[in-house]
Amino acid sequence: MMSETSFGKPESRTARTPKTHLVVPNKRERPTTANASTYKRMRPFKKSPPLSPAERKRRLQRRVVVYGTMTLLIVAFYFYQPQRIHFFAKPPPDPNPPVDPDSERLFSKGVKIVLVQAHPDDSEFFISPFLLKLAASGAEIHQLVMTDGDKSFYFWAKQDVPETRRVREAEQREAASHYSKEVTFFHEPDGRLAGQPDNAKMVQDYVEKIQPEYVIAFDTEYWPTINHADHLASGAAALQAVQAIPEAQRSVKWMLLYDTTAPNFTPDVSQTVDQGEAMLAIHKSQFYGKKLELIKNSRLEYWYDAGQAANVSYGVPLRALKVLP
Ligand SMILES: [Zn+2]
Repeated sequence: MMSETSFGKPESRTARTPKTHLVVPNKRERPTTANASTYKRMRPFKKSPPLSPAERKRRLQRRVVVYGTMTLLIVAFYFYQPQRIHFFAKPPPDPNPPVDPDSERLFSKGVKIVLVQAHPDDSEFFISPFLLKLAASGAEIHQLVMTDGDKSFYFWAKQDVPETRRVREAEQREAASHYSKEVTFFHEPDGRLAGQPDNAKMVQDYVEKIQPEYVIAFDTEYWPTINHADHLASGAAALQAVQAIPEAQRSVKWMLLYDTTAPNFTPDVSQTVDQGEAMLAIHKSQFYGKKLELIKNSRLEYWYDAGQAANVSYGVPLRALKVLP
């Protein structure tokens, strides 16, 4: 009855083989397509029994713990690393008419300007042609660099933090020598500027000491999809600092905000764009080889697009904000 030689004969197979068992083909029999499909068809099918309420609860709890932990880890990593995503980006105001921040005064000899930036290289990356144009017209630029850009927050990258600090400060000083009267470093921790309690107060003291008419800083209201948290923190510190100065002592008339998505003032920088582009190479610890060429191209494109939008060959997009008395 159970003779193995009868395997393959459908009429007898049904009778002798329970459905829940695999049928092992007869060793002496040559494997054929028919055998293979029979093998497959005979695979046991086991219906799992219904879960008890306690088991269902246990599985749900396990799922909540696993997915909850994963979500927490992603959120924790987002806040650990310094890039920020503009989840609720505001569209530029519509209409967004051009504003003239008294440009005759801006491009005049002896006008005092405070430039606030988060890292060495921010000035070259975003606005160097504008700074060169200001310097050419005789502006007195006081440059404030809030961190050393040492990247010490990347604990997994083995690097000599004090050496990075020294190199980057030297690079920024060299770049600044082309347009600034002086450079001040606050030496705040790179990547962690947002967590420092005295940013606004420190910038306020600096601005009150210099007494500028213009403050140039990162835009913290209309900013691109992804931005560095330090950029936003330095911009916020500059804005708060200017607002906190009592009216009687306030010299600042205008804020010129860069890295903005809502420019209303785009100075023509056709004369200085080449030099501005070349100055990116001064930050050779950051931009070198192929990367330098890519950055140069992307910056030229950025200044070109801004210029086209403002009917000039090349422009630096800024948002001029009048400081109300
Ligand atoms: Zn930066």
